[in-house]
Amino acid sequence: MKTDFISQKIDKSNHLNQRRQLRMIESMEGVECTINGKKFINFSSNNSLGLAQHPLLKEQSIEFLNKYGTGSTASRLVCGTQTFHDETEKRLAELLGYESALIFNSGFQANLTVIPALMDRHSCILADKACHNSLLQGAKLSEANLIRFRHNDLDHLEYLLKSEIAQKGRKLIISESIFSMDGDVSDIDKLIHLANQYDALLYIDDAHAFGIAGDKGMGLAANKKGIDIVAGGFGKGAGAFGGYIGCTARMREYLIQFCSGFLYSTALPSSVVGSIQAALRLIPDLNKSRETLNFHADYLRKELRRLGFDVGSSSTHIIPLVLGNETKALSMTSHLEEKGILAVAIRPPTVSAGCSILRISLSSLHSIQHIQQLIDTLASLNG
Ligand SMILES: *Cc1c(COP(=O)(O)O)cnc(C)c1O
Repeated sequence: MKTDFISQKIDKSNHLNQRRQLRMIESMEGVECTINGKKFINFSSNNSLGLAQHPLLKEQSIEFLNKYGTGSTASRLVCGTQTFHDETEKRLAELLGYESALIFNSGFQANLTVIPALMDRHSCILADKACHNSLLQGAKLSEANLIRFRHNDLDHLEYLLKSEIAQKGRKLIISESIFSMDGDVSDIDKLIHLANQYDALLYIDDAHAFGIAGDKGMGLAANKKGIDIVAGGFGKGAGAFGGYIGCTARMREYLIQFCSGFLYSTALPSSVVGSIQAALRLIPDLNKSRETLNFHADYLRKELRRLGFDVGSSSTHIIPLVLGNETKALSMTSHLEEKGILAVAIRPPTVSAGCSILRISLSSLHSIQHIQQLIDTLASLNG
């Protein structure tokens, strides 16, 4: 039958313990949520600053909704660009310390379509092994020769930059600032240095750093000279939705001409842009939340190591418990759930086979009691 492959593939995922399931969150209040009538402390969301329910984001979203309506009616280039898009891009560029910014409908869409606008089948893309799926999909779509360098191994990157394969056509280096699964950080200054030395374009995905790290919380790629594209999103730390890039005015102009994901998609609606604007007003002043978040993350890592857990090379609010096989990760998740803790197992193909993790993503809304409860529960499971 023509649909046989569907059952076969689902059965295979089942068999490999890789089948994923959608879970319905019935209510969410800060870091507490309800699933099937049961209350959980949520350690899985990317609502790292708790802005997703912030009154000011809601307020400006509603204000814009009432003022401008629900739909933006067209793509940005046709007649979908409204004053609030323009204002937001100008403000964002200032905050990022880049000449220009461009908003996309999601971070995924930005990565998926900006990369092919820059590279072609004669080009060479060098991407960190741990790069997000959207970056890899963008690289594939570009038809460039995609080469992966070992995670955060910039000697390996340099070796590849020197090698035969990278001598023809344009070159693009892709990395993340805070890696979404490992919670470790790349050496951005060294990446800039290499990009300059080997005349490669540099693309940094700052999705998990935006709101959380860097000057005024604008990410680790903010205010840096030598990054051609910084990409990120508003759906995580910023508590809103949508994607962005920071770049030169010339690059912005180029992408407005040639980036399909910008050209052929209906612009973000006013309600979303309203919440983005409110987030941009709040984030620079949230140093206290960022301090709490980092302090809690340090404490949690220290306690987890003491209990004998492997937290990899995490140095941020994202902390993986490296568990190895899928069964172990799944059983850890379900044991935690019995105790009212939501921490989702990340399995292949999101991570490599045998590298399953329990991904803990802290929010500034987690109290020290929440964190202690997680530690105590993990201790009891480990013992
Ligand atoms: C989440 C994420 C994206 C996608 O951003 P969305 O706005 O959620 O589409 C891109 N890159 C990285 C590293 C991410 O973690």
